[in-house]
Amino acid sequence: LTELDVSDHKEVVEVGDVKIGGEDLAIMAGPCAVESREQLLTAADHVAKEGGQILRGGAFKPRTSPYSFQGLGEEGLEYLAEARERTGLKIVTELLYSDDIELVNSYTDILQIGSRNMQNYGLLKKLGEVDTPVMLKRGYAATIKEWLMAAEYVISHGNDNVILCERGIRTFETATRNTLDLNGIALIKDKLNIPVIIDPSHGTGQRNLVSPMAKAGISAGADGIMVEMHPNPEEALCDGQQSLTLDDFSQLVDELNRVAQAV
Ligand code: PEP
Ligand code: MN
Repeated sequence: LTELDVSDHKEVVEVGDVKIGGEDLAIMAGPCAVESREQLLTAADHVAKEGGQILRGGAFKPRTSPYSFQGLGEEGLEYLAEARERTGLKIVTELLYSDDIELVNSYTDILQIGSRNMQNYGLLKKLGEVDTPVMLKRGYAATIKEWLMAAEYVISHGNDNVILCERGIRTFETATRNTLDLNGIALIKDKLNIPVIIDPSHGTGQRNLVSPMAKAGISAGADGIMVEMHPNPEEALCDGQQSLTLDDFSQLVDELNRVAQAV
């Protein structure tokens, strides 16, 4: 990685009073998609109660099938804003289309760029024009170098508040949804100063694997986790099979705090 043409990275990205990178462990959790006001506020209250700092939830969903639930759009952003007001949590939500940058930016604290858009260079350049932190998820078929170069697009266009998120890549293995690349986390943290978050929900696709891989990611050097959690995963409109229950999440936070102290 050292031969790459990369800029000086920010070791710690500040999201208001929340620091991502450095000593603190960042916990981002919430449903895959914002589905209703009640669903989101229930999830938000639980994230806050357990000491998480950031609420996730997609208002614009990049679904494989055009017939699947596509998200609530601006209505979803309004529920996120209400949850922030009520709990004090910061918000991370996906920006899917270049045309929506102003809209999404006016509601969120972190702009999430999803796996499918990691090499959407037009979108990445536009993100240089704001100073809102950007969480850049790894493309599911992107090498580490391609991922870092995508981050450089944002940074070189003027926004150095970039956080990476490892969310698993497509390999020959089909027993899990993706293969979480723990090597990549250890490698990036060894060579560069840039915050890295681990997403074991999309990385594994299975609820029972989320907690072990979250702990593995923190042990490998990740600065925090992003996990999907739903008040009633059986009824989820998106990614229920990989969503933690509220109780699962409580247990995970407890275990993670112990792992973070050990590393
Ligand atoms: C998500 O986090 O909601 C998501 C769609 O993830 P990814 O872009 O990693 O598939
Ligand atoms: Mn999801």
